[in-house]
Amino acid sequence: DSITGSIINAVNKIRHKDDVASLSRALSELKKSLLKADVHHKTTKDLVAAIELETKRNGIGQDSFLKALRGELTNILTTNGNQGFVFSSTPPTVILMTGLQGSGKTTTTGKLANYLKLRKKKVLVAAADLQRLAAVEQLKQIAAQIEVDIYFDDNEKDPIKIALGAKEKAKKELYDVLLIDTAGRLAIDEELMAQLSDVKKAVNPNEIFYVADSLTGHDATKTATSFKEQIGIDGVILSKYDGDTKGGVAISIAHQVGVPLRFIGIGEKMPDLEVFIPDRIVSRLMGAGDIEGLAEKTAAVIDEKKAKEVTKKIKKGEFNFNDFLDQLSMMSKLGSMKSIIGMIPGLSQMAGPIKDMDFENSDDIKRIKALIGSMTPKEREDPNLMNPSRKRRIAIGSGLSEVQINKILKQFKNASKMAKKLSSKGGMKGLQSMMK
Ligand code: GDP
Ligand code: MG
Repeated sequence: DSITGSIINAVNKIRHKDDVASLSRALSELKKSLLKADVHHKTTKDLVAAIELETKRNGIGQDSFLKALRGELTNILTTNGNQGFVFSSTPPTVILMTGLQGSGKTTTTGKLANYLKLRKKKVLVAAADLQRLAAVEQLKQIAAQIEVDIYFDDNEKDPIKIALGAKEKAKKELYDVLLIDTAGRLAIDEELMAQLSDVKKAVNPNEIFYVADSLTGHDATKTATSFKEQIGIDGVILSKYDGDTKGGVAISIAHQVGVPLRFIGIGEKMPDLEVFIPDRIVSRLMGAGDIEGLAEKTAAVIDEKKAKEVTKKIKKGEFNFNDFLDQLSMMSKLGSMKSIIGMIPGLSQMAGPIKDMDFENSDDIKRIKALIGSMTPKEREDPNLMNPSRKRRIAIGSGLSEVQINKILKQFKNASKMAKKLSSKGGMKGLQSMMK
């Protein structure tokens, strides 16, 4: 059902060089899959026509078809305008976060604040969604979690006053960025639009971001268009992209709304936000993975010195259980597994079940932690010490059966062998070349 799978089907339809009939079969397969993936029909039509032209120009063949597809998808996703976060020349940069209820505004406000904080910016978030009682509380919790300042007033009923008060504070206390979370509705209504326009007039934000829920398919495109026409938006953030197996919404929004996509939300946790970079998204859509995105994401949370030490150990085959625990805790800092898997070439297609693995809470991880917890420091350092009597002792201590223990130990051995193999081929680059 993903574009990726269908692309493979489409390409396979091209059997011979310069075979026009096979190209039209491939194009009609592609068209079907784009429509199924919620790509707007006009967008699909334009896209397929452009790919046909380009493929013919370069000589019909599987490679030229793929190249044309990649090129045209990148073209569509590359809209004129700002990319990522853009700072105003006179701080604070004020951003109004808008969108329908449940689209992910409040979460995304937190994610953006976290993103900016990691880049050493002084960030203030403002709780101007006074429609829902729980909204202010939700933003308070998020702000506390990421340790970012929040402006709120439990006695205030007027979102304009909150927005103005927050801007005042941000100016006076020299914040770099102010992010204002606003109220949403289940559907667009006049009252909401009027309220947002009033807030916009009052605070005069540098940019208005529209948070679009990828899972709403064609509606996301329609609603974004309405927001653009009625209050004006400067960027779209696509939330819940992790759950969007179809992946067509990004293409439709970029083509139909004509406002740059700025970020994508790829999970429920605070680190699960990425700058929208067209060719990376295309790689993901085409199943080629996103090595750069992965490297960037890991660099932000992984202690580089530690990572080097671990790599050295892996190469020497000395990877032990302590290293394993360290790795696990790093993984949980990366956010959800889903967001990571999509970036690894090849893995996104193979690793369905792993995607749902929660590194902090899964039973598998709990068992592994219990097992390592019952080991002596020496055993943790040296996996080769394991023998039947030690295993029996660990079984009693950890509450696991010996079968379970053997299974985990075997997995660990395999993982460490695999890691050694990969590292000797040059880490990520090695992984890339293996997948080719
Ligand atoms: P709001 O009403 O627009 O403020 O929406 P919320 O921020 O409260 O988000 C609604 C739900 O969507 C929450 O359960 C979030 O955890 C979830 N959510 C937001 N962004 C993402 C995302 O990128 N991925 C996933 N999987 N869930 C998300
Ligand atoms: Mg909210």
